[in-house]
Amino acid sequence: MPQRTLSDEKNAVQRGTLYLVSTPIGNMADLSSRALKILSTVDFIAAEDTRNSGLMLSRLNIQKPMVSYHEHNRRERGPYIAERLKEGESCALVTDAGTPAISDPGEDLVRLCAAEGIPVTAVPGCCAAVTALALSGLSTRRFAFEGFLPVSGRERSERLKELKSETRTLIVYEAPHRLRETLYDLYGALGDRNIAICRELTKLNEEILRTTVGAACEHYREREPRGEYVLVIEGVTLAEERADYPEDIAAHVALLEESGLSRMDAIKAAARARGVKKNDIYNALIRQDEE
Ligand code: SAM
Repeated sequence: MPQRTLSDEKNAVQRGTLYLVSTPIGNMADLSSRALKILSTVDFIAAEDTRNSGLMLSRLNIQKPMVSYHEHNRRERGPYIAERLKEGESCALVTDAGTPAISDPGEDLVRLCAAEGIPVTAVPGCCAAVTALALSGLSTRRFAFEGFLPVSGRERSERLKELKSETRTLIVYEAPHRLRETLYDLYGALGDRNIAICRELTKLNEEILRTTVGAACEHYREREPRGEYVLVIEGVTLAEERADYPEDIAAHVALLEESGLSRMDAIKAAARARGVKKNDIYNALIRQDEE
């Protein structure tokens, strides 16, 4: 296979091209030499957060014009960037960390450029999902990347229901302030599967907790979640025996309470797992008590 070297002329920045440049997820030494070269030679850089990326670029001694491109301005900014690319400028897209377009703005810009015939290429590198999967100790043969789960409502319970029968290893991103609720919901919906909780990957406080979802609920009852997390959860085939929650509502709530959830959290998690309202669970418990 012909391979390029860094000094290869073909590695020089091409006019009118969008480069998706992956940046480190916590350890600056993970920035590739090609990423450095492209960032130093493009005409401009589109960044999710120009302040964050500005700090990174100044540490690298790179001075480049930047434009912001994020969730809230992508509709206007996308066509503006595409226009500049069509005029022959080259652009590097970077996000706060990792691979642009993976649970990050960027997907739309790639689609727009593809539709307009603008060349798009990638400078691959760190991605928290793949790093966590590789470290998880769970099956890596087939996996499903879920990104962030919907935060609430019907969308969340329907997604959890779908995941119950997913046979592939699941990868979920989560913010620290939502970690406990997500663990409770995963326990309520999927049962006590194996899980790897990957925290602060590549950073000084990197930690991989290989445990079960129930034990993780218990663990985080005592500790305040801090830092960035990726959850890697065993798919249903391997966990089949343990995956099902009891049909009986009282037994389901009791099982959740046994894992350390308060009665209130157990009722909420059971409701989300079953895709019903919290009050339906209350009423069923009262009915069962009266029988
Ligand atoms: N594009 C990025 C990538 O390639 O991984 C993901 C961006 S997404 C907006 C941010 C989420 O990625 C965080 O909330 C966390 O779930 C995960 N993440 C990013 N860096 C991480 C790290 N160092 N350790 C653990 N999780 C991380």
